Amino acid sequence: YGPAPEDDKDVRAWLARHEKGFGHFIGGSFTKVTGETFAVTNPASGEALATVTIAGESDVDNAVAAAGKALKKWQALTGNQRARHLYALARHVQKHARFLAVLETLDNGKTIRETRDIDVPLVARHFYHHAGWAELRDTSFPGYEPVGVCGQIIPWNFPLLMLAWKVAPALAAGCTVVLKSAEHTPLTAIAFAGICAEAGLPAGVFNLVNGAGETGALLAGHEGLAKLAFTGSTAVGRLLRRQTAGSGKKLSLELGGKSPFIVFDNADLDAAVEGVVDAIWFNQGEVCCAGSRAIVQEGIAERFHDKLRARMEKLRIGNPLDKSMDMGAVVAPVQIEQITAKVKAGVDEGAEMWQPSWAHTIVNSDGCFFPPTLFTHVAPSSPLAQEEIFGPVLASMTFRTPAEAIQLANNSRYGLAASVWSQNIDEAFDAARSLKSGIVWINSTNLFDASAGFGGYRESGFGREGGREGMLEYLVPAFEAKAKKLDES
Ligand code: NAD
Repeated sequence: YGPAPEDDKDVRAWLARHEKGFGHFIGGSFTKVTGETFAVTNPASGEALATVTIAGESDVDNAVAAAGKALKKWQALTGNQRARHLYALARHVQKHARFLAVLETLDNGKTIRETRDIDVPLVARHFYHHAGWAELRDTSFPGYEPVGVCGQIIPWNFPLLMLAWKVAPALAAGCTVVLKSAEHTPLTAIAFAGICAEAGLPAGVFNLVNGAGETGALLAGHEGLAKLAFTGSTAVGRLLRRQTAGSGKKLSLELGGKSPFIVFDNADLDAAVEGVVDAIWFNQGEVCCAGSRAIVQEGIAERFHDKLRARMEKLRIGNPLDKSMDMGAVVAPVQIEQITAKVKAGVDEGAEMWQPSWAHTIVNSDGCFFPPTLFTHVAPSSPLAQEEIFGPVLASMTFRTPAEAIQLANNSRYGLAASVWSQNIDEAFDAARSLKSGIVWINSTNLFDASAGFGGYRESGFGREGGREGMLEYLVPAFEAKAKKLDES
């Protein structure tokens, strides 16, 4: 009886118009659909949405060549002219906001509430923010030059937002781009390529190739790139570090996480429970900085978990186009299998698992749904506490003293984000200073802004996206750029 599902007619009409499939976007236009293709499905229903061409060696070569060709003209523009292009992209994203939100929901399975209110607005904001940096580049970074042609590889959890995090700073710095979308979710990147053409971005400044890991490896290994930016799994990040070693390519990696969510005994427990909903059930837990480890002070643990279970009973999961849903579908069956295996291992090793009473009702659905899941009595050394699950699964542990909380929180090979809940601001800041993570949120979680550098330590990767630090990832000191040019001449 809730609100009617968001209307998807225009998106369906667009998909129908491209019934024969989608090619790549190279040098300002779409290529023909030829050769090998892959199918894109809606994970909430299993229905086929589109067919997309897989980029092979010659496609990647063509895309890198197009980006190389566009580089000189793009760099010859003034900062103000490049800024105008970024503003135009932002405005066109806003113009197509509803279309993009619905398309992202169909392709990824995440709720329309999130794509409409979070993903797409943040995408526009990222382009607006970086339009400012395009203007300010020369005065803010004297002695720096754009690095050159950039290869960018993105994951499926925030397809359009990760594109924006990569493309906006590169363009603002004066670089050109070849982006590879994720194989589960290429559709909003394809729509964005159309937006580039519509907004009048010069041909070759943004190029898109589609495909899976093989295409990614071709791009990462390409000699025509000056920089590679990657977001995805730690395993592939490690491969890319090896692959690019000694190649002279600048590299940034945004990898996994196992972020702690620390609740002190004087925290506002109702606010903290809502915080958990945001930390681990936002985007079905498919978030690199998801607060997947609750670390709760012993005296309030029982009360906190009781409140949490009551809240979990009320979460709604189902058709992601329905505006009243809290959770949508996990991206693909392969991820359901992974999550299920990790949950089973947790049960086998003796942690206590709890799911809402309605959890069984979604098990036999055609969609990739996984219920919100809480583990208590988790041993700090167990895989539940150490390994990224990338699903809606929270592992909860308890502590007695603040020192113990920090020790538990830092007992991880990751270091992406952390969230601290306390009404004593001294206690919160003391904890924040001791946490080994790239981001610390206090009495909040999963807040993102284009002006704040985002990134991790240790196995969460290196480099920052957003803000001033993010710009530096796409710039090099002028003397380095000059030496490189001399080398090439
Ligand atoms: P992945 O790392 O395999 O994929 C990420 C991107 O890298 C995709 O575009 C993929 O095509 C590409 N890729 C894969 N192999 C490559 C290679 N050898 N060279 C270059 N590019 C390559 O991640 P996945 O298989 O989609 O997901 C597996 C796990 O990764 C998840 O369960 C999760 O733990 C983690 N993950 C993390 C993030 C994040 O934001 N940190 C995002 C997605 C997935």
